[in-house]
Order: sequence, then structure tokens, then C-alpha cells
Amino acid sequence: MTPVAIDDVRNRLLRLREELKVRQGRAERDLRHGLEPLVADAPDQAIQLQNDEVLREIDSAALVEVAQIDAALARLDKGLYGICSRCQGAIDPRRLAAVPHAVTCVACAG
Ligand SMILES: [Zn+2]
Repeated sequence: MTPVAIDDVRNRLLRLREELKVRQGRAERDLRHGLEPLVADAPDQAIQLQNDEVLREIDSAALVEVAQIDAALARLDKGLYGICSRCQGAIDPRRLAAVPHAVTCVACAG
């Protein structure tokens, strides 16, 4: 990969990371609101608990993705970006276009 392409990928990953951090921060902030005493009304209580569940999922999914992005950035710095971390084969560029933080090829990811 040319140095310019590497910079492009890095910028794309960093932007994605930033978006995820914002999304995760928002979910965590909303979750803290959820720690306030549950509303007395039973139907509202159910909705509140359901919302917390969704927020927790957003939160953990974002954390996992941020970790994947960090791994991809580390591989980028080592010149290993685009190379499968398991079989060392080349990752399909179309996969990288869709999932820029992919560190395994389609075969290994499946
Ligand atoms: Zn592979």
C-alpha cells in the first residue's frame, strides 16, 4: 500500500473510532440516567428496563468495535494492514472497504 493510502485508511479508522466513542459515551450517559429509581408505573418500568438493555448492547458493541479499530491501527503501523491475522493471506479489498477494521479474511472471520 502506498503511504497516501495508509494515511487514508488511518484517517478513516480514526474517524470511525471517534464516532463510536461518541455513540458509546451517549449510551453510557443514558444508562446512568437509568440508575435513577425506577418509575413506579409498571408499564413504564418495563420500557425503562428494555431501554437499558438496548443501551448496554450499544455500549458493549461500540467497545468491541473500538478494540478492533485499535488492533487494525496497530497492524497498520506495523505494515500488516490488509493481511489476515490468522492465515496471513490478503484480505479482500472489498471487505476492507466495507469493514475497514477487519483484521481477518472472510474465510477466517466465518
Ligand atoms: Zn484468513
